[in-house]
Amino acid sequence: MGIGIFGGTFDPVHIGHLRAAEEIRESFGLEKIFFVPAYIPPHKRGKRIADIDERVGMLKTAIRGNAYLRFSDLEIKRGGVSYSIDTIETFEKRYGEVYFIVGLDAFLEVDTWHRYGELFSHANFIVMLRPGEREESGLDALPRDLLDMVTRIDESTLLHASGRKIYFPRITQLDISSTRIREASKNQKSIKYLVPDRVERFIQQRGLYNT
Ligand code: ATP
Ligand code: MG
Repeated sequence: MGIGIFGGTFDPVHIGHLRAAEEIRESFGLEKIFFVPAYIPPHKRGKRIADIDERVGMLKTAIRGNAYLRFSDLEIKRGGVSYSIDTIETFEKRYGEVYFIVGLDAFLEVDTWHRYGELFSHANFIVMLRPGEREESGLDALPRDLLDMVTRIDESTLLHASGRKIYFPRITQLDISSTRIREASKNQKSIKYLVPDRVERFIQQRGLYNT
């Protein structure tokens, strides 16, 4: 048992996020997964993102009714730029065994994250392949100094010197991104079945990505 931490901008949350969380929660037997929207995502600075209230509104309505999927306002309350290491440490203090869930696209830049060297001592990592990414690339593209710290347990698991693990599980690959949804909305194209119905309505009613 343990809990999952799923960080992101969630601008907006979509079926790719939700299905991934559901599958990971089930296959890892996690007690719950916390969706933690970044207050200020460090890697999206300078880009225009929806207000935090809107991202939260969509997230809450998306996970409503699934007792395993929870919302966390940790990074919002902390304010400022949201660093995963701070979030991981807080959850670790509270829950002990934590699993940080991240897509391979984000993971490939992990060596640019704040206090990168400490991340793997405080959480297990679950790295999800996204469509268009090669399976081996997870291992190939690990930063050198991280590679030196891990041994391979099996084809989809690495053991870190800290005793924590890095998993590369098979999940249903859904070619859905928030970028694509924002673009479609802007161009008055349908986003039905890419996001939950309630999120679709939320976006439409507020004209969220119209401009
Ligand atoms: P954007 O296009 O704006 O970057 P996004 O769809 O990548 O949006 P984020 O909020 O950036 O969504 O992603 C949060 C986390 O979810 C990241 O770790 C990302 O890799 C992962 N993720 C996003 N979409 C998927 C998907 N379809 N399948 C698996 N993981 C995903
Ligand atoms: Mg992204």
